[in-house]
Amino acid sequence: MEPNYSFARNMARKVLKDYKLSEVPTNLTVIFQGLHLKYIELNDASEIDGAILEIEGKPAIAVLNRARPLQRQRFTLAHDLGHIFLEHIRRDIYDPEEIRESDLQSSGKTKPPKELEADAFAAELLVPYEHLKKYTADMNNVDKLAGIFLVSKQAMTLAVMNLWKRAAKKTKS
Ligand SMILES: [Zn+2]
Repeated sequence: MEPNYSFARNMARKVLKDYKLSEVPTNLTVIFQGLHLKYIELNDASEIDGAILEIEGKPAIAVLNRARPLQRQRFTLAHDLGHIFLEHIRRDIYDPEEIRESDLQSSGKTKPPKELEADAFAAELLVPYEHLKKYTADMNNVDKLAGIFLVSKQAMTLAVMNLWKRAAKKTKS
């Protein structure tokens, strides 16, 4: 199965609209509350950035790990929200850190399609295309943009690259 990126991105846009999240950085707490997820904060230097835990097969608790960089926590949680909204069956609500790390380093193709879809959802949720377009003047300043959207520089670089790719496609057609 090929990952369906446009479905994932459209779902993220729908969530932003449904939860009236028109400002950046995207307020993930509003979504947790809407899903009636309990929200807890850890201060644990061990492996997790953040996670959404299930109870009896239903997403129940959003966990943020204060000991990890906020940007990483946000991406991990947005990724897990992707699994929920994209209704991935038997989703890996809890993604162990080491798997995510090795996935990021290896080629995108080896990552399961659902993981790629959840990543695309997270990217659009945290860096909405329509918002990013407004920052044309800052497009070369990844540091500044990462601060505005509260994502890692790596995630921001990818978002900017995607924007350019899409812009290039539009001028061709
Ligand atoms: Zn995942």
